[in-house]
Amino acid sequence: MAMVVTEPCFGCKYTDCVVVCPAECFHEGQSMVFIDPEECIECWACVSECPTESIFQQDEVPEKWHDYISLNREMAEQCPKISEKQAPLCQ
Ligand code: SF4
Ligand code: SF4
Repeated sequence: MAMVVTEPCFGCKYTDCVVVCPAECFHEGQSMVFIDPEECIECWACVSECPTESIFQQDEVPEKWHDYISLNREMAEQCPKISEKQAPLCQ
């Protein structure tokens, strides 16, 4: 069961999450990051690194953010991988 990045990530991109991922699952969209569900090994390392608590296990994504489950899958296919920390877009 993969992890899913949800709405609080939008506009942030602190990217604390990407550096701890051992499987390079993260992809960089314009305003947030996405996790490739095919690559996530469910190690939970990223969850506690995210300062905005954006990352949930797929089964635990709050109802209002269920669209993010398919969005992560779709956007991970389209966006380039990111595995190094970047300066935040806004704080
Ligand atoms: S640390 Fe959290 S808010 Fe920041 S890019 Fe990663 S998932 Fe998004
Ligand atoms: S749970 Fe582990 S493998 Fe999955 S995205 Fe987070 S850090 Fe990467």
